[in-house]
Amino acid sequence: MDAIAIIIPAYNEAQSIAANLAVIRASVDTIADTEFMLVVIDDGSRDDTGAIVRQLHSQDSRVQLLSMNRHYGKESAIAAGLQSTRHLDAVIVMDSDLQHPPAMIANMVAYWRSGARVVEAVKESRGNESFMRGTLARLFYRLFNYFTRLGIDGHTDFKLLDKEVVNACCNLPEHGRFFRGLVAWLGFETVQIPFDVPRSTRQRSAWGNGALFRYAIDSITSFTAFPLQIVSALGALTFLLSIVIGGMALADKLAGRAVDGFTTVILLILIIGSVLMFSVGLIGIYVGRIYDEVKRRPNFLINRHKSTLHD
Ligand code: UDP
Ligand code: MG
Repeated sequence: MDAIAIIIPAYNEAQSIAANLAVIRASVDTIADTEFMLVVIDDGSRDDTGAIVRQLHSQDSRVQLLSMNRHYGKESAIAAGLQSTRHLDAVIVMDSDLQHPPAMIANMVAYWRSGARVVEAVKESRGNESFMRGTLARLFYRLFNYFTRLGIDGHTDFKLLDKEVVNACCNLPEHGRFFRGLVAWLGFETVQIPFDVPRSTRQRSAWGNGALFRYAIDSITSFTAFPLQIVSALGALTFLLSIVIGGMALADKLAGRAVDGFTTVILLILIIGSVLMFSVGLIGIYVGRIYDEVKRRPNFLINRHKSTLHD
């Protein structure tokens, strides 16, 4: 009998969490020789998500609640879930809004049993998100893959991880965590299963635009310092520009036409000014990351009183 935890980060999911857990439960109950524990990580929800899950736990002890002290974000919720279930044989991470089809779990478990250390669901199509979100998400993956060479196009957090991988993941000392990237970086033997993202059981995404943008910047900068080299490239570019324009100015001077060229001066100030600002900002992001890492502050605190799962 294998023991597998399904960890489900949930932020303000009171409307659909009970129904969705029932769907997930029904789907995993058909899988033989496996005991599934559904662990909902309440990411500091402001609605009744936690209370509902605690209620479900009192009816069925295979449903567990891990309650965060406050809203730390999905990545921290996943980290907390992995930490608390690392002693089990395998862990599955999935969203609570049924956009990660529970019907795929049987297949994932089968691949795991035949030797894969990581089984991941990869998006064929991107579900019902807005045009803007879809375009920005594609741009993010382009940049991430280009900078890091990890190739995580279409990857999701819907993954089955063997105990060994969960432990490797938990043992990474870093603070800024991007789960999808870290699993790819670890490089365990992986099987990918393609899927089409179904509609969410919720109207709106649990992610605000600002939060998603910060998430994208954090994810890229936690994996690669390559953008810093762009600063050097920009420096080289403005140097070339200054040679050309400097030559022209000198030629004008020698020909006695030196009063013209006011536009050039304005343009130069604007261009060099913005390149400098951009560069300082970029370096600032990395200094901020270093600051975050050296503080060694934990990613999350678990609220022991509200949680039903204790390790
Ligand atoms: N989520 C979370 N904390 C957050 C944002 C989201 O725990 O700060 C959870 C959310 O409850 C859901 C999952 O992460 O279970 C995915 O969220 P959502 O469906 O909104 O993401 P999308 O489908 O828009 O990528
Ligand atoms: Mg969703």
